[in-house]
Amino acid sequence: MAWRLQEEMDLADAKQEREDLEAARRLQFEEADSKRLEDDANFAKELYLSDQKSDTPPNSNGDAGAGGSSYCAGCGKSMHLVRNSLTALGKSFCNNNSCFSCALCASHINDASFQVFEGSPVHASCFREVVVPSCVVCDCKVPTNSQGHYSYNKHPFFQSWKYCATHEEARRCTSCNRVEPRKAPFAKLGDSRVLCDSCCRTTILDSDELKPIWSSVLTFLHKLDLVVWPEMSNIPILSVDFNTLNEKNSRGGSAHMGQGGPITRGLCLTETEGEGLMMPQLSFDPRQNGFSMQHRHFSFGQSTAHVTAILVLSGLPKLLTGSILAHEAIHAWLKLHPGYLTLINRTGGEGFNRQSEEGVCQLVAHLYLASQERTLSHTTPYDASSSSSSSSTPSSGDLTESQLNQFFKFSIETEKSPVYGEGYRKAAKLYEQIGLEPILQLMVENGALPE
Ligand SMILES: [Zn+2]
Ligand SMILES: [Zn+2]
Ligand SMILES: [Zn+2]
Ligand SMILES: [Zn+2]
Ligand SMILES: [Zn+2]
Repeated sequence: MAWRLQEEMDLADAKQEREDLEAARRLQFEEADSKRLEDDANFAKELYLSDQKSDTPPNSNGDAGAGGSSYCAGCGKSMHLVRNSLTALGKSFCNNNSCFSCALCASHINDASFQVFEGSPVHASCFREVVVPSCVVCDCKVPTNSQGHYSYNKHPFFQSWKYCATHEEARRCTSCNRVEPRKAPFAKLGDSRVLCDSCCRTTILDSDELKPIWSSVLTFLHKLDLVVWPEMSNIPILSVDFNTLNEKNSRGGSAHMGQGGPITRGLCLTETEGEGLMMPQLSFDPRQNGFSMQHRHFSFGQSTAHVTAILVLSGLPKLLTGSILAHEAIHAWLKLHPGYLTLINRTGGEGFNRQSEEGVCQLVAHLYLASQERTLSHTTPYDASSSSSSSSTPSSGDLTESQLNQFFKFSIETEKSPVYGEGYRKAAKLYEQIGLEPILQLMVENGALPE
């Protein structure tokens, strides 16, 4: 007489359980939300285990029943010759020690506490050792959350940079935004900022180092078919520390904010005051059948906008510095355009719409980074999309120039702020349609990009 021992659930649940396992496998190391990954491998604890007597004749379609097949998934032996069998992951296994084995260490699994990794059973200990990531900050295996799931945060671009959620506020590289490992501290920049080894390789520390980069930016603008105003070659380009830049910025000017906080990274200092005045003026309003007070900008004779200097935050890598200079170069270009003062007069001193202006500047910063791509080293390409890698920690925190370049582009593309992020995305869309020069013409004529 046939009998079946059902340890964890009844037969009706077996099919559902297989589907759940499929889902568990898919879920494994996919992002539950943008910050948290959860490991659902403990679905494996609910695996269906059955002991099955060999005197059960297989039914007519050869199904061994209980969710298994009529042959051992390990050795292929016919299951009705087997005294004890195990049904797991929708397959049957015989009692041979090598048939139900760990996909990671290849040795026999002899208890029900195994986990599932990429659809195959593995020892819980092997899973933790090989699959569960180590935190880059504290170097421990990431913890489990209240539901018993492994949980961690990761860098949005360098996705193998995984860390315990408790380190979210830890110090980060000011350039690539990776959290600092305790065992390998980042270099201090003298203010509150730190820089990782990869970003340190090409760090720009003084104004002399900025000169050739500024020249390369002007050459780049020329290649984009922009007329480079002669004044642009003579603008002082200054490398300044964090405090100087932020102090200057708080007094006005157009700042380039960095990813992950309001850090000013570049500033284009312009002088347009002194050439005119905002004056109240009465004008007749026909709708109200009366007079109303308007503020109008009056200019005094021939005045020109003047770019005093461009300031760039010191200590950043060469590529990032170049993209900041490209950004500031467009601020300068727009302000040195002969049409700028007409725009100022027409808009009552307003000038450019801020989102449109920053968006166009970010567009050119992005184009600059893209133009650098060819010249960069591509060794050991970083698989930024890999989140299910079986290696638990990045073997080395080293990034190639190309990887950093891709991250800087990614930061511009995914920036959340309505001014810089939305501004960039609008400008980039328009760029696809009409190109850069017409965009800049629209800016000078209308002060803003069309919606
Ligand atoms: Zn077997
Ligand atoms: Zn194992
Ligand atoms: Zn940690
Ligand atoms: Zn870095
Ligand atoms: Zn800007």
